[in-house]
Order: sequence, then structure tokens, then C-alpha cells
Amino acid sequence: SKPIVAIVGRPNVGKSTLFNTLAGERISIVKDTPGVTRDRIYAEVSWLDKNFTMIDTGGIEPESKDIILSQMREQAQIAIDTADVIMFIVDVRQGLQDADSKVADMLRRSKKPVVLVVNKVDDFNKMMADVYEFYNLGIGDPHPVSASGKLGLGDMLDEVISHF
Ligand code: GDP
Ligand code: MG
Repeated sequence: SKPIVAIVGRPNVGKSTLFNTLAGERISIVKDTPGVTRDRIYAEVSWLDKNFTMIDTGGIEPESKDIILSQMREQAQIAIDTADVIMFIVDVRQGLQDADSKVADMLRRSKKPVVLVVNKVDDFNKMMADVYEFYNLGIGDPHPVSASGKLGLGDMLDEVISHF
């Protein structure tokens, strides 16, 4: 069966935007999973000659900081247990946060392939310097993207499918 790619990250980093962008016509969506009507969490994605199932692990996202980390740990654990590749999304505008580091530690220990995606890099000329701090997470090269601006997605997807 097809590889599973799970999207994890803090609330508001742009997981659902990235998911919807990748699931949209632009990058060749195949179909929605039957039975999932309202908030789609599964999508079939094709990139080059590779097909995979993408999962948005972020569901109802809490406002309270106390709950955020425990929910992120749960989501990361589900991704570790079920995914072949994990896309870990961070937000260049908010910068490196403590919860990012804690989840990165979990992902690193899991030994699963992780693609570190730095979202909201809406201007690759002006914002690239801010991308480099995410090297400190110790989970590999940060891949700058703008999910809403549809920038950097090809290079990011090349990295994702290189792990299949
Ligand atoms: P999630 O909670 O991680 O699923 O995040 P959402 O996808 O709901 O996005 C949270 C907010 O970030 C929304 O207001 C999005 O419009 C915004 N957002 C998402 N991607 C980008 C991006 O590439 N650039 C900018 N500037 N905003 C973005
Ligand atoms: Mg979401």
C-alpha cells in the first residue's frame, strides 16, 4: 500500500493550509477519502511518479498552552506509530518555540524520517535568515515554504518522496 505522510506541528503554524494546498488541484489531488466530509484529514497526493496518503494530525486545536504540548505529544506519537515520513511544520514568524524543541526530541528519538518544514516564508529573499535558527532543532535541514503563497513546495515534496 501507499506510504503515509503525517503532518505535525503546533497550532497555527499552517498545517491545514499546507494540507489543503497539497491536496488541491495544483499538485494533483486524486480523491477524498470516503466518509470524511467536513474536515478532511486524509488526502491522496501525487508528486512526480510517487503517490502517498497525507494525514493532517491537527484536529480541534486548543487555545490553552497547558493542553497544547500534551496534545502535540499525542499527535506526534500517532504520527510516529502510523507514518512512513513525518512532515514537522514550524512557523518562521513565531520563530523557534519550546514546544517545537520538545516535539523535535520525540521525533528524533523515533528514528522515523522527518522533513522539517518552515512555513510562512512568504518572501524567500527577505526571510531566509530567519529560517536558519531551525537547524537548532537537530532534525536536519529546514525547508522553507509558504503554504498560502505556494512557494517552496516542489523542493519540500522532493525531500518527502526521497524517503520512500
Ligand atoms: P494549523 O492550526 O497549523 O492547521 O494552521 P492553519 O492552516 O489553520 O493556519 C493558521 C494561520 O496561518 C491562518 O491564518 C493561515 O491563513 C495562516 N497561514 C498559513 N500558511 C501561511 C503562509 O504560508 N503564510 C502566511 N503569511 N500565513 C499563513
Ligand atoms: Mg489545522
